[in-house]
Amino acid sequence: MPALWPLPDDSLVREVRSVADQLALAARYRALDRTPEFPRTEFRALGEAHLLGLTIPPKAGGRGLPLERAAVVLFHLAYVGGTTFAKLSLQPEFTSVLLERGSPDLVRRWFDPLIRGERLVGNQITEPAAGSDARGLALRAELRGDVYELTGEKSEAAFAADAEAALVYGKVGEGGPGEPVTAFLVPQDLAGISRTIEPTDMGERWQRRGRVVYDHVRLPVGSRVGGEGDGFAPLLRELVRERGLLAAIYLGVARASLDETIAYVGERATFGRPLSEYHSVAFPLVDAAAELEAAWLLTLEALRRLELGEEAAAPTAMAKVLASSSALRAVDLAIQFHGGRGYSGALAHEQRYRDLRSGPIAHGPSEVLRGLAARSLWAARSRKSSGPGPSSQE
Ligand SMILES: Cc1cc2nc3c(=O)[nH]c(=O)nc-3n(C[C@H](O)[C@H](O)[C@H](O)COP(=O)(O)OP(=O)(O)OC[C@H]3O[C@@H](n4cnc5c(N)ncnc54)[C@H](O)[C@@H]3O)c2cc1C
Repeated sequence: MPALWPLPDDSLVREVRSVADQLALAARYRALDRTPEFPRTEFRALGEAHLLGLTIPPKAGGRGLPLERAAVVLFHLAYVGGTTFAKLSLQPEFTSVLLERGSPDLVRRWFDPLIRGERLVGNQITEPAAGSDARGLALRAELRGDVYELTGEKSEAAFAADAEAALVYGKVGEGGPGEPVTAFLVPQDLAGISRTIEPTDMGERWQRRGRVVYDHVRLPVGSRVGGEGDGFAPLLRELVRERGLLAAIYLGVARASLDETIAYVGERATFGRPLSEYHSVAFPLVDAAAELEAAWLLTLEALRRLELGEEAAAPTAMAKVLASSSALRAVDLAIQFHGGRGYSGALAHEQRYRDLRSGPIAHGPSEVLRGLAARSLWAARSRKSSGPGPSSQE
């Protein structure tokens, strides 16, 4: 990787790069776009290489890395293998509510095999009428003796085709819009579950997203994760951490395209001069490099605060918004300056662009995250103006 801005190049990074080479993740990333399937072999191999659950404590089978170190690993995985393998690495974090709130039996049966890459556990929050505003979800769970009966529909779910189980969020009883949310661990082969794949996604097709319908699905009471009605707070905490780590993934993918483009425009000549000598080519690439670096520093700072236990919902939201948008802009430039081949599938840029396009939508759309950050800014302002200190005297 040419030195644009220095990233740690230590034994952990070398280990990640070596695993990525051994598993041929760069080639596999490209192949999964043409033949979408869940990459079971690589998932298992990442588990064996101890690259699943980077931030999960070692006693739960994870690597126990501080968030900033995990971000470096994810950046490098994404640099080589696009969003695919870095997101797979995060799947235990995406379902850490199960580890945090599930019974020891649920953790043993589902989280332990997940972090070894043996079984896939997905997340089902979104419904046809409730996405960004997940509090409006309507899947109902009726308690009948010692089983819950689940009825409702989940949509947009990654791994709808392939997950062996999912963390499913619903409401106990009538479950109106303001009612609290409860989490359940639901094996996906239970009677009454039907899954439909919608293979029309513009990118990340290996996730095989789709709809999952629950028609009076009977689930033992012990499959509830946490208490009745307290499923939302752990989910929100998990999302804060996810957003900061996802930012690192977007930036790794974009940096790969940027580095390749910097090399290319130095070699490709038009009208007798290398492209890099045209300011209209070089300057946007400088801006892209600056934006990616700014997003990277913000990401590390947001994760550092989170690691210290500080309130970090707004910083991680801002990091995700900035990283997802600046990554898309950088890869768009890569497509532009590679000309006709940039637009074609011969190079990875267009696949990276399509994959990255989910960034400003999934795990909290950018507009919703800006709203979250705005509330935090104005709350800080009103604390400042009403509290003691210099600002209250202005
Ligand atoms: C690749 C991918 C993978 C996904 N995987 C999963 C999964 O595994 N499990 C799961 O449950 N879901 C998953 N989702 C769904 C995702 O979480 C939702 O798409 C997302 O939460 C937005 O919900 P929605 O699609 O219903 O959009 P809506 O809530 O209908 O919003 C549509 C758009 O309106 C705008 N908007 C919404 N609210 C506001 C607001 N308050 N202010 C301003 N603008 C607003 C935003 O631009 C938003 O994109 C996935 C999505 C993608 C793209």
